[in-house]
Amino acid sequence: MKEDIQPKYYQAKVVCNCGNEFVTGSTKPEIHVEICSKCHPFYTGQQKAAAARGRIEKFNRKYGNITK
Ligand SMILES: [Zn+2]
Repeated sequence: MKEDIQPKYYQAKVVCNCGNEFVTGSTKPEIHVEICSKCHPFYTGQQKAAAARGRIEKFNRKYGNITK
């Protein structure tokens, strides 16, 4: 019998920074995440806003030293 080798598998409670909680299978009993399917821009339909923000950040990284 080799069942000791298998890691324990939990129905893990995942807690997100946005307050959303959901259950998933994991080897850890509880997981904390910074982003989930509810607040991720991809799922909230704000990917265009996120892309625009990314461009602004890129611009600021390149030219930020001029305005500071
Ligand atoms: Zn979330």
